[in-house]
Amino acid sequence: MRRRPDEIAKMRRAGIVVAEMHEATRAAARPGVTTAQLDATAREVLRRRGARSNFLGYHGFPAVICTSPNEVIVHGIPGEYRLEEGDILSIDCGAIVEGYHADAAFTMPIGEVSDEALRLIEVTERSLWAGIAQMRDGNRLHEIGRAVQQVAEAAGFSVVREYVGHAIGTAMHEQPQVPNYWPGNPGPTLRSGMVFAVEPMVNAGGPETKVLEDNWSVVTADGRLSAHLEHTIAVTDDGPEVLTVP
Ligand code: MG
Ligand code: MG
Repeated sequence: MRRRPDEIAKMRRAGIVVAEMHEATRAAARPGVTTAQLDATAREVLRRRGARSNFLGYHGFPAVICTSPNEVIVHGIPGEYRLEEGDILSIDCGAIVEGYHADAAFTMPIGEVSDEALRLIEVTERSLWAGIAQMRDGNRLHEIGRAVQQVAEAAGFSVVREYVGHAIGTAMHEQPQVPNYWPGNPGPTLRSGMVFAVEPMVNAGGPETKVLEDNWSVVTADGRLSAHLEHTIAVTDDGPEVLTVP
């Protein structure tokens, strides 16, 4: 769907709130802090900004952020887990302003981490920007995933298949989906006004996933590290515009 400029302006405002949630939780995340405390930090930003959460209550999800440490790929539930030196942590969250959604995630090191962990985060970030660079009017949607996959696999990592990015607007998850791999066809043509959440999930080991008994936390089947980054981006006449920035 192509969004009008006034719709994209509201998504940009939601995106600023998400960027502030990122900034606040990134500043608070350190060894000894629980993931529940980070959720409280993010709730405070939403309250101060008068924005609503699109995560809280989503299919019963109990928090405004997902906190996914180490082998957790996505959808980790904030709770009593205490961050430790050497962890990596993905924080994913969103906001709704005047009915319009934004959604973004980052992965950060907690204190000193392994060289592999740092490289995984760096490669995942590079894969995200390679995908974003494909978001031009007239290009095809699945060039995004092809670019993400190329960067991740060239570094010796793998991309998750079961969870993907998505169009976003008046709902968080709209059609079409945005895979992080080449699905075998180029997909729809991108047009100015389309808005997508692009979100590579890159695993240090194999791409296989499983879901824990909490029915939310998605982990790597081999127990190795995973990183997740995401932005909400509009296709414009001047190229991609990232909306989830301050
Ligand atoms: Mg997200
Ligand atoms: Mg998303």
